[in-house]
Amino acid sequence: MTKKISIVIPVCNEEKGIRKFLDGRLIPEVQKIEDYNFELVLVNDGSKDKTLEILQSYAEKNKDMKVVSLVRNFGKEMALSAGLKYATGDAVMTIDSDGQQPPEKIKDFIKAWEDGAEIVTGVRDHYTKHGLIPKLGSKLFYKLLRIMGNKTTVPGSTDFRLMDRIVVDEFNELTEHNRITRGLVDWLGYEKKDIYYTYGERMAGEPSYNFKKLFNLAIDSFISMSTTPLVVFGYVGIFITIGSFLLGSFCIINQYILGDPLKLYWNGAVQMAIFITFLVGLVLVSQAITALYISHIHAETQNRPLYIVSKKHSRNLESTSVKPNKS
Ligand code: UDP
Ligand code: MG
Repeated sequence: MTKKISIVIPVCNEEKGIRKFLDGRLIPEVQKIEDYNFELVLVNDGSKDKTLEILQSYAEKNKDMKVVSLVRNFGKEMALSAGLKYATGDAVMTIDSDGQQPPEKIKDFIKAWEDGAEIVTGVRDHYTKHGLIPKLGSKLFYKLLRIMGNKTTVPGSTDFRLMDRIVVDEFNELTEHNRITRGLVDWLGYEKKDIYYTYGERMAGEPSYNFKKLFNLAIDSFISMSTTPLVVFGYVGIFITIGSFLLGSFCIINQYILGDPLKLYWNGAVQMAIFITFLVGLVLVSQAITALYISHIHAETQNRPLYIVSKKHSRNLESTSVKPNKS
C-alpha cells in the first residue's frame, strides 16, 4: 500500500505569503515526490486577516488539504499540537508557512525516515538570525539548555521535523499544558537523525515572534524541561551558609578565645554582617527545598507517561495476555 505523509503547517496572519508558499514552493515540491500520498494539515492559529478564507478555498478544491481552525491565537506550539492530532499519515512532517524552512528538503526527511529514523529533525546549518540580540539569544538559549541537563537538543534544531506515526501517537498522549514541542519530542527518545538546512528569508509578512515572545519561550523551555534553576539556588545557599559559618567560627575563635592575635579589630557590625549572611544562606537553602517539593508536584501535574516502549524493538508483546500455544 502506498504510504501517506502528512504535512502539518501552522499558519498565523500569513495572507501576504501563504499562496506563494503553497502554490510556488510546497505543492510543486510535494508533487515531485513519487510513490507517496500526501495530506496537508493547515492549522489556522487565530489569524486576524484573510488567511482562513484563503486556506478554506484550498480545502474546497482539494480533499487532501485539511484546515484545522483554532478559535483564537494559541501560539505556534499549540497549533502544532492541534495539527498533529488531526494528521493521519504514516509519518508527519511539520513545516512553517513562511518559506523559511525549505520544502525542497522534505524528500531528504522521507529518505531518512525510510532508512529507519523515527524522528528526523531539521537543524539550521548556521545561525542566520538577523541582529545581534537574536543571534546571541539563540546561542545562549542552547548553551543554557545544555547546562540544565538537556543534552539531546542539538543547537539550531527547529520545528522543521518528521515524525513516525508511532512517535506522533505517543506525542498525542502527552497532556501537559506548558509545552515546547521540540523539548517534548526530544524527551520521547526514539531513533533520531538530524538534517542540516539553510534557514531562508521570510517570503512575506512579519515574523510574529518578537523578543518578548522568544524570551518567554526560552523561560518556558527551561522550566518545563528541567529543575536545574532551582538546584543552582540551593547550591548558592549551601555555599553561603558554609562560607559564613566558617568565617563566623574564625571570628569567634580569633577574637574571644585567642584574644585577636591577628589584630583584625572586627567590631560588632562586622560580626552582625557575618551572622546575617549566614541567615541569608539558610533562607536560600530552605527555599530551594520548598522549590524541590514544588517541582515534584509540577512533575506530577505534567502527567507524563512513566516510560515509552519502543514498539519497533520489542518482541512478542501482543501475546503476553494469552496463553502460549501448546502445539
Ligand atoms: N505561527 C503560528 N502562531 C503564532 C505565531 C506563528 O501558527 O502565534 C506560525 C507562523 O504562521 C509560521 C510559523 O508559526 O508559519 C513560524 O512563525 P514565525 O515566522 O513568526 O517565527 P520564526 O520564523 O521567527 O520562528
Ligand atoms: Mg519564520
